[in-house]
Amino acid sequence: MEKPFDVVIIGAGLGGLVSANYLAKAGLRVLLLEQHSLPGGCCSSFERKSFIFESGAHSLGSCREDGLFSQIFEELDLHGSSGILVRRAVPSDSVITQDFTLSIRDTLSDNIEELSSIFPAERNRIKKFLNEIDGCDVRATKSLLTYINRYQKITFRKMLDEYFDDERLKQVFCVFLGNVGLPSTDVNALRAIVMFREFILDGGYYVVGGMHKLVDRLASEFVSRGGTLRYQARVIGIHLDDHGVNGVSVSTGEQYNTRVVISNTSPSQTFSSLLEDHTTQFGSEIDKYKSKIQGLLPSVSAVVIYLGLKRQLDEMGHGRTVWYMPAYDADQVYADVLHGKPDLACRTFLAAFPARFDESLAPDGFECVNIFALAPFMDEQFWKHSKVKLTEALIKRAGNLIPNLQQRIVLQETATPITIQRYTLNDKGAMYGLASTMSQMDAKVMPQKSIIPGLYFASHWSTIGTGQGGTPMAAFAGRNAARLALRALR
Ligand SMILES: Cc1cc2nc3c(=O)[nH]c(=O)nc-3n(C[C@H](O)[C@H](O)[C@H](O)COP(=O)(O)OP(=O)(O)OC[C@H]3O[C@@H](n4cnc5c(N)ncnc54)[C@H](O)[C@@H]3O)c2cc1C
Repeated sequence: MEKPFDVVIIGAGLGGLVSANYLAKAGLRVLLLEQHSLPGGCCSSFERKSFIFESGAHSLGSCREDGLFSQIFEELDLHGSSGILVRRAVPSDSVITQDFTLSIRDTLSDNIEELSSIFPAERNRIKKFLNEIDGCDVRATKSLLTYINRYQKITFRKMLDEYFDDERLKQVFCVFLGNVGLPSTDVNALRAIVMFREFILDGGYYVVGGMHKLVDRLASEFVSRGGTLRYQARVIGIHLDDHGVNGVSVSTGEQYNTRVVISNTSPSQTFSSLLEDHTTQFGSEIDKYKSKIQGLLPSVSAVVIYLGLKRQLDEMGHGRTVWYMPAYDADQVYADVLHGKPDLACRTFLAAFPARFDESLAPDGFECVNIFALAPFMDEQFWKHSKVKLTEALIKRAGNLIPNLQQRIVLQETATPITIQRYTLNDKGAMYGLASTMSQMDAKVMPQKSIIPGLYFASHWSTIGTGQGGTPMAAFAGRNAARLALRALR
């Protein structure tokens, strides 16, 4: 066995990579184990025939000067000439309905103007609503506590109903809930507020060259800080003794000693597959956790279509990310998906146009487009039959949005929830970890510090009090887990 590591991290997703960097920067001996051959988990890119596709996450949020991501980039020295180039697409998101195209602009006042020009009767309430969202500073404890008290016990639907009369306007706000995978009736209002503030009003950022540039840089920075990174190293067991964690074992046969493990995987994988040791004093606690986890709801998954297209010169007139909702039914679609019904009619979906903002992602004369539709986790048999049908239906429908789409396709691939599960090992291909429903928001539901001494969580499955899922939240969980581990070790 090698000399013990101070910390072993399971998974090089965003949460794991961020934790790893903070700990290596603090001078600890850290081992990062990733089952895949690449870093990033849900936040990475892949290349096909000179097209670079964002495999999962395609936009970052919270990159303003004092944003969560900027703070992390700053603290980890990732900005600068050899650093990561992050730009904001303006307009960032657009919503296309049967009546109008609405785009998210750069400033709060521009957004109030944009919405009010379409819904003039709601002008004052739009202003009040967006100012309320903008006031929720997650980094200022006093502000956050006020919002927790005000909103943690109500749904976003209730908040919308308190502000607005026009259901079409409410649906415009609801369509963005695709970013948390829930309808307004199920998502906690605080989660929706944080998503709007950190991912829409301060959203639409992209990494020049593709998302892999971000995670590759985090991985190489970790190694240059003295960290050890192993790919194709799937952790199959976390070992315990009566003091807590004492090591991990990997599918390739190695065992590593450590007193601290940070899990970037789901608690269900951690407790049900990795922690099988019942002989210690923690056995009954582990059993209690296992039954608690069975009652928790993972977020929904997605179908993603990656298209390489011949470029066509046209006036885009919309943002990098487009929410297509002709019939104002986003809330119903998200509710159906949450209850296990795939949107086979492709009523509402999202299309992203990354290469229009970053030409390095496609060969000259071409561009890449991603089409995302939320989807429930169904078995392999279902996707075997439905993958082609749903791909064809989504492409046909996206033809309303992208001129001459069918004739321009030169490359096409589809990922289903099964694909997402296979590459990231997220339960049920969950794209945002633990769903941010009313009962799953409290920080105590799946805390970052576990019941076992030395075991911490850093992922979109960790409850941090403001909701789970998305790149800013996963990165924040990573930073927080590193702080907890450092505190314990010191
Ligand atoms: C299709 C899709 C689109 C999305 N779009 C966006 C978007 O535009 N913007 C946004 O902000 N968010 C988006 N998200 C959500 C966001 O990508 C995730 O919430 C976030 O990246 C999760 O990071 P994480 O570190 O918590 O976990 P993950 O990314 O799931 O990483 C976990 C890592 O652990 C590894 N692992 C698991 N088990 C083991 C094991 N036993 N041993 C070793 N390694 C293991 C996995 O291989 C993986 O690399 C999207 C997600 C998906 C799926």
